[in-house]
Amino acid sequence: MHSKTWIQHALDCFAPCHCSLCGLPSGRDIELCPACEGELPWLTHSCRQCALPLSDSEARLCGACLSTPPAFDRCVAACAYTPPLTAWVHAAKYQGDLPNLRVLAYLLRRALSEHSAPDPDVVLPMPLHWRRRWRRGFNQAEEMARALREHPRFASLDIRGAVAKRIRATAYQRELGAAERHRNLRGAFRISRDLEGLHIAVVDDVLTTGASAHALASALKDAGAVQVSIWCCARTLAP
Ligand SMILES: [Zn+2]
Ligand SMILES: [Zn+2]
Repeated sequence: MHSKTWIQHALDCFAPCHCSLCGLPSGRDIELCPACEGELPWLTHSCRQCALPLSDSEARLCGACLSTPPAFDRCVAACAYTPPLTAWVHAAKYQGDLPNLRVLAYLLRRALSEHSAPDPDVVLPMPLHWRRRWRRGFNQAEEMARALREHPRFASLDIRGAVAKRIRATAYQRELGAAERHRNLRGAFRISRDLEGLHIAVVDDVLTTGASAHALASALKDAGAVQVSIWCCARTLAP
């Protein structure tokens, strides 16, 4: 949907973007200026596997991941899911707001570069059930994965949404508790190709409890994937 024509690109050169936070010209092609970017709730030291902030500066994994690790191996999350991320994600997800999607993709690119995340063989946007996708008109994770490729460093990412399908329309995760989320997701995904030996990066907007990511990573590993990374713009912090 959101692919720009060359005319829109040309117009962007003449109409500089304004920062959506301070209102000043951002000086670049996204609606976020460098000063406000520096003030965002960046996750600078967090668990390699689940991206929750760590208090121990020496630690690489949190206690929960050490005792019961999730099925995914690594999670790169740019910021905490607090304002202004909450508003940006909401606009991107429910209104398909393109400027917000581009800011979110920019934040994720910065986090991926800073964590020197290895390039995966396949990028998989977190699948939506077809009915939800049809109602919403798009999958925000797919749009975000596409926006990631706008930078030359990520231009060759191989996005393959068809690898996984959400075969059950699960209840809205955000309305459920942690245990219910796991139950809700059992058998929710079907993998449609052999992933023997591949590293898959799943792109999502927000990692909340990690239940969807865990269920999808389990299914990908059953299909032969050797490594599953989660790439997300924001991470919900523990209450
Ligand atoms: Zn600003
Ligand atoms: Zn962890």
